[in-house]
Amino acid sequence: MGGDRMGVFLERIRENAMSGRGINAEDALTVLSLPQVEIWPLLTVSETVRRHFKGDQIRLCSIVNAKSGLCSEDCAFCSQSSRSKASIEKYPLMEEEEMVMAARDAKRRGAGEFSIVTSGLSMHNSRELERVGNAVERIRTDVGLETCVSLGTLSAENISVLLSRGLRSVHHNLETARGFFPSICTTHDYEEDVRAVREAKAAGAWVCSGGIFGIGETAEDRVELAMTLRELDVDSIPVNFLNPIEGTPLDGKCDLTPFCCLKIIVMLRLCHPSREIIVCGGREVNLRDLQGLIFAAGATGMMIGNYLTTAGRPAEDDLRMIEDLGLGPRAL
Ligand code: SF4
Repeated sequence: MGGDRMGVFLERIRENAMSGRGINAEDALTVLSLPQVEIWPLLTVSETVRRHFKGDQIRLCSIVNAKSGLCSEDCAFCSQSSRSKASIEKYPLMEEEEMVMAARDAKRRGAGEFSIVTSGLSMHNSRELERVGNAVERIRTDVGLETCVSLGTLSAENISVLLSRGLRSVHHNLETARGFFPSICTTHDYEEDVRAVREAKAAGAWVCSGGIFGIGETAEDRVELAMTLRELDVDSIPVNFLNPIEGTPLDGKCDLTPFCCLKIIVMLRLCHPSREIIVCGGREVNLRDLQGLIFAAGATGMMIGNYLTTAGRPAEDDLRMIEDLGLGPRAL
């Protein structure tokens, strides 16, 4: 794109994002197709938009893998799936006390929000749901952290029960575009995930739904996911980049570069100007030394500590990074 055309383009996407409407699919696709040299003016726009809507306070989330492995589903990127041969720890639902202890540990490391995550398409029984509800209540009141759950597909009724125990957020990723989803998962339908997001919205939860990038999807798929999330009016968008784990079908198949990751974050910020964009799994391996640029790209939060089955870097490195950038952790 020539200098004049680039200037007009940047002005248009800035205006559309600052108005709160967000950019359209065509402009989102252009963002993703820009050469590396254009990343710097693009970051100027995305940072302006992030600061306008969200300021300089960064949301820090942490998770516990409360039930690991043994999943009935076959998501190609996931080390816990039925077709993964990855060597991971597998265990049933943790005791309430273990979840609370994990939350205390996360708070000590600087997290403001804590999520209980379980493998599988849904909670198996009401006893498990009760145990998670008890943990949610104690994490909210005793530990003093906002809570989130990622328990697969939950009915509006079950979400209401958890909300009554003090839950704030429900997480359920769509993962990728509707058309590409069957290449990644064959054991359930995309519409089930869309329904889960709608149920969470209808129940009145703060809804966190996003996806994973670098799994073989096209730029069009990335934009389609962004537009679907906009239609669903999600509150927060977790962004994962593939960390190809040995033993999973996608091992050795990730072709993301740090600049590609940054453009994905920019595209999401400009499509969703006022929403949270939280950078989660795969940050360290894909962005490497450019991790600090995620906030200029438009991220308003990041996951700190360990991921589901892989280790993150020390939380103190992340806290120092945001301080060095003149940013600060957000009081939720
Ligand atoms: S992403 Fe979730 S549903 Fe899919 S295989 Fe992994 S744990 Fe199971």
